[in-house]
Amino acid sequence: MLQLQQVRQRVLDLARVSDARTLRLESAAGRVLAGEVISGFDYPLFDNSAMDGFAVRCEDVEQVPVSLEVVGVSSAGHPFRGRIESGQAARILTGAPMVDGADCVVPVEQIQQDPNDAGRVTVLVDPGEGAHVRRRGEVVRAGSPVLAGGTQLNPGHLGFLSSLGVENVEVVPAPRVVILSTGDELVGPGSVPGPGQIFESNTTLLSSMLGGMGCDVSVVHALDDIDSIAAELQRLGTQADVIISTGGVSMGGEYDALRNAVESFDVDVVQVAIKPAKPFAFGRVGDALMFGLPGNPASVVVSFELFVRPALRKMAALEPAVVPTFKGVLGADVSRVDDGKTHFIPMRRDADGRWTRTGTHGSHAVSPFADASAMMAFEPTRGLIEEGSEVELIPLWT
Ligand code: AMP
Ligand code: MG
Repeated sequence: MLQLQQVRQRVLDLARVSDARTLRLESAAGRVLAGEVISGFDYPLFDNSAMDGFAVRCEDVEQVPVSLEVVGVSSAGHPFRGRIESGQAARILTGAPMVDGADCVVPVEQIQQDPNDAGRVTVLVDPGEGAHVRRRGEVVRAGSPVLAGGTQLNPGHLGFLSSLGVENVEVVPAPRVVILSTGDELVGPGSVPGPGQIFESNTTLLSSMLGGMGCDVSVVHALDDIDSIAAELQRLGTQADVIISTGGVSMGGEYDALRNAVESFDVDVVQVAIKPAKPFAFGRVGDALMFGLPGNPASVVVSFELFVRPALRKMAALEPAVVPTFKGVLGADVSRVDDGKTHFIPMRRDADGRWTRTGTHGSHAVSPFADASAMMAFEPTRGLIEEGSEVELIPLWT
């Protein structure tokens, strides 16, 4: 049996950062920039007004109140084509281009409409030179770098890039993943299970976890037949970046078809000193990385979080590859039997902020994970961890 850290390191070493790809902005959320982004445009693109008001010449409003003739309007998308001269003003709306001849804006709150002449306004306050004018390029200058390589793009970054007219970005893509579910006993939700059949749940579980990472996911089902699984793997090895299988990787001899099928590939099948998820396979199938997870849904969660997620994060250039653990305080005792393995226990955060285990079922039941947001690694060196102890928790699903 191998130790957890050793297997984790080998899996991580196997993964390589994927080649950069050009993506449209709307597909790039969560991805990591391959290089810095240079703006092709100034921001703002032109001098414009920060307020609804009147564009005036500063020298005209040094003595207030002063009455000015209104000669035009500049609204968003409709610049005033003319120019104002001494004694004149132009109405201006927020975001509208600054008016030629004007050098400041008087907010609408600081003027009075002339009651007898719709064509005149009285300015009550001197706003000062340049007031309420947003200058071309004051936020970003064309040709300057705006985001550094290695930035993980969030919606704020993407909105910012859009505002600079950026259409595409060079990013490290999330891997394309195929989930290969194996098992003669499995039927899809919506079917009526026959004798000995059970509902297939791993593909939903894995698809959801992978979707959250931005992976492009497809699903293939296979029966427990060595040759057909081997043929399927061969085919998928040319199409996917990563293959994740479930089932058939234990010690059931000829009944564990996947384990036999991977013998013709560069894949290791190992036993890890953890519970659940002791059996695990990893290696290369064609151009793809391959992870063989056990069939038990609870084992799938544990294997995915411990081995697969860090590898996928590394491929997508997400740092750190291993999501950091955090500390929590136990709300109740947790005990275990000594079988020499590290146990991974699904944990829930209660209303008082302390952590308790969500269930005591075996790995056949995924229900404890339905309610969990973290898992606790419980080392075999201890039999009991008491209520009130501070423990290290591994986040789930993120
Ligand atoms: P295996 O690893 O193939 O021996 O499967 C271990 C257990 O997990 C068995 O009880 C299987 O029926 C169950 N199992 C395997 N694959 C799935 C799946 N895709 N969804 C739900 N349960 C599964
Ligand atoms: Mg099976």
